[in-house]
Amino acid sequence: MGAGVGASRPWDAIVVGGGHNGLVTAAYLARAGRRTLVLERRDHVGGAAETADLGGVRVPRLADTVGRIRPSVVKDLGLRAHGLKLVAPGVRVFAPQPDGRAITLWSDTARTAAGLRDWSGDDAAAYPEFDRLVRSLGKLLAELAARTPPDIRAPGIADALTGLKLGRTFRGLGKHDARTILRVLPMAVADFVAEAFETDALRAAIAWRGVRHSFLGPWSAGSTAILLGDSAGNDGGAAGQTVFAIGGPGALSDALAAAARAAGAEIRCSAEVVSIAARDNRVTGVVLAGGEEIGAAMVVSGLDPKRTLVGLADPVTVGPTMRWRAANYRTPGVVVKVNLVVDRLPRFTAAGDDDQLVRGRILAAPGIDAIERAFDAAKYGRASDTPVVEATIPSLVDPALVADAPDGTHVVSISAQYAPATLRGGAWDEDGRADAFADRAVGVLDDLAPGLTASIVAREVITPLDLERDYGLTGGHPLHGEQSLDQFFLWRPFFGSARYRLPIDGLYLCGSGAHPGGGITGQPGQNAAREILADLKRRR
Ligand SMILES: Cc1cc2nc3c(=O)[nH]c(=O)nc-3n(C[C@H](O)[C@H](O)[C@H](O)COP(=O)(O)OP(=O)(O)OC[C@H]3O[C@@H](n4cnc5c(N)ncnc54)[C@H](O)[C@@H]3O)c2cc1C
Repeated sequence: MGAGVGASRPWDAIVVGGGHNGLVTAAYLARAGRRTLVLERRDHVGGAAETADLGGVRVPRLADTVGRIRPSVVKDLGLRAHGLKLVAPGVRVFAPQPDGRAITLWSDTARTAAGLRDWSGDDAAAYPEFDRLVRSLGKLLAELAARTPPDIRAPGIADALTGLKLGRTFRGLGKHDARTILRVLPMAVADFVAEAFETDALRAAIAWRGVRHSFLGPWSAGSTAILLGDSAGNDGGAAGQTVFAIGGPGALSDALAAAARAAGAEIRCSAEVVSIAARDNRVTGVVLAGGEEIGAAMVVSGLDPKRTLVGLADPVTVGPTMRWRAANYRTPGVVVKVNLVVDRLPRFTAAGDDDQLVRGRILAAPGIDAIERAFDAAKYGRASDTPVVEATIPSLVDPALVADAPDGTHVVSISAQYAPATLRGGAWDEDGRADAFADRAVGVLDDLAPGLTASIVAREVITPLDLERDYGLTGGHPLHGEQSLDQFFLWRPFFGSARYRLPIDGLYLCGSGAHPGGGITGQPGQNAAREILADLKRRR
């Protein structure tokens, strides 16, 4: 790509994409006194962490829970002072079963164990130890997540220190847990939960987090690593986190944007970057749709690695080998989001009149094999006949979302899996495929909460195709790429590029495609900012 970018004084850093990670990086850079510009393609920031209008109410359009956001990000950036309010209901997961019973996982381990006694005395007895194990192993992964993967080619003192710290944490696990983590990380999550529990419904309620948002079934190798990664750096434990932002996930993005602006960053929306400019293997800035060129010493991409390197960077500068590797980075999306506005609270048979039970995540996945069978379809390019459905009713904990709607109105936020981005025999926007899949997902819930379908007053369906077109998520992947072991830690996004620096000088990655991956954590953004600031210091 040619020179000639930017007539005015160049920015220290341009962050491409105002998703939550891009905003985290921008806020840290601006706080360190760097002139920082965020360019966001859509007309508002947040990316997958947004609250939107539907049928006169506010809905979490994609993500609904934000409990994985790192406490250090909240603290460092003063997000509470910028309006962030988090609420964590006591119930984490309510998994109603076809026979009218339910598995309920609470934040209170003893309460969960007490409830499990109705299913199995052995499972009730095993639950506290399993919860302890998940928390203990999650601690090491949290430490790993907060660190920059080591420099394999030219390890320095910082890498040695990181190794020492990780070694200390590893030893801190004790002999049993240290051995266990090495053994279980590559395991299928179905096997991992089966080591502790005999009740299939309980196994499924826990194992689900090992495959959520992934092109994996519970019998896929490496799904235990995802379960443990989901529990890292938050209070999740065996049940996983369930935390809502008041105002929806968009409120978190708004707080991040406010923190970035307060620190001096500029944020421009409706500004699509179409290419990253470089000269002599060094970035010089970006070019916007419409032709405007903006100069910067550094470009930090909050987009996924494939879109960054194959879509935006100059192919000659990237070179054929890296382009080939980027093109082969795996991004097979499997999630359809269905948002409902309903005129009455769904009544789950297994919950009776107890509204407390449905304040967390509601999971329709009756057993390990039911999840695996739903995944089977995706392997062959078909959407599941009986999808696995996870839903929340955020208006129960945040009634202001429906303040302008008639009494009794609620929001039901549904993630349905498996819906492969690439369908055999046609695309998602053809022949009513999206609506047919959404009908099946809603049908799964209706079987457990009769009358749900009849209560719908507004519905929107967002397919992997929409995720790619509207949000720039390549392949419709919610996590900017699979989190399997071949795209993990030193291999995220590829071996040799895991340290946030991409193979053009001055080009960095700060989004979910970077270590430690996706979900609303802010961790890739925080880590990338640390590395960028270190490079700036070194250059002085
Ligand atoms: C349906 C769904 C449900 C989910 N549920 C949860 C959940 O409940 N909890 C959870 O923790 N995680 C959830 N996730 C995952 C989580 O939301 C994402 O992993 C995370 O929000 C990604 O953040 P990011 O900042 O890395 O990237 P993104 O949010 O993808 O941000 C990238 C930004 O770049 C912008 N952009 C793209 N192209 C350009 C361009 N050319 N120029 C300028 N800007 C551009 C995009 O518009 C976007 O704003 C869910 C995801 C989906 C899709």
